[in-house]
Amino acid sequence: MVPSGTATRATSLTLKCVMFAAYKRARTMPDEHDRTPKPYGDPATTTPERVLLIQAHPDDAEFSCAGTIAKWVVNGAEIHYCSITSGDKGSDDAEMTGVALANMREEEQREACRILGVKSVTFLGYPDAMLMPDLNLRRELVRVMRRIRPTTLVCQDPTMRYAGREYINHPDHIAAGEASLAALFPSTRDRMTFPELLQEGLEPHKVPNIYIYGAAEPDCWVDITTSIETKIAALKAHASQLGDWDPTEMIQEWGRRSAYANPMKPEGSGQYAEAFKYMHLR
Ligand SMILES: [Zn+2]
Repeated sequence: MVPSGTATRATSLTLKCVMFAAYKRARTMPDEHDRTPKPYGDPATTTPERVLLIQAHPDDAEFSCAGTIAKWVVNGAEIHYCSITSGDKGSDDAEMTGVALANMREEEQREACRILGVKSVTFLGYPDAMLMPDLNLRRELVRVMRRIRPTTLVCQDPTMRYAGREYINHPDHIAAGEASLAALFPSTRDRMTFPELLQEGLEPHKVPNIYIYGAAEPDCWVDITTSIETKIAALKAHASQLGDWDPTEMIQEWGRRSAYANPMKPEGSGQYAEAFKYMHLR
């Protein structure tokens, strides 16, 4: 049996420990656990400083978010593209080879980037239609992120599986989104992940802002009324994919629908918009 005096001392000591822990927690919580975003402004209207856009295929960005890219360029942003594949399966032509198509589509992407004012485009050369979000791809994307050192990542949505009754999202888009987000957090930030990249002089880097395009649950609408024409011109650079088809009407319709879907509809918002899921990491 424990003497009552000892029990009281033990209880008292336990209480002091609990109180000290609570006191320490109260002092440290604001620093360690506060997830309030740093000031960035309204993501719908703020122009980021340096952007890395990652896409599965040439033309993904032009279909989805090139109005925002064009607008940011005009407002002074520095934009870099990374295309994981070169779209070497995107043809029904029996005479076409994968190598010829990849070369053609890389040229089309470079032309689209020239029209948009994008500073650089990197092709990782992964085979089209076979993308997997594995560790090799994650390492490649960490390498690109640590080299470009963006303040903002623009990438696809790994949670978008289908939309409506007519659209199944391409598995490459899902894999590209998954690999991009996994590369950003935590591997680009963490020194001990992929130590071989340190040997290449690629130091860890934090990317605070993320705009996810083709988002299943958008929460940020960028007005592209002033840049939709540049978007359409850049999309038309992907001639191997469009053939004789003029995408103008469809892009305008998508832009109108996105603008209409914006629940905030700020005063003065324009006729066309692009939708994103926005995140801000500390
Ligand atoms: Zn695609």
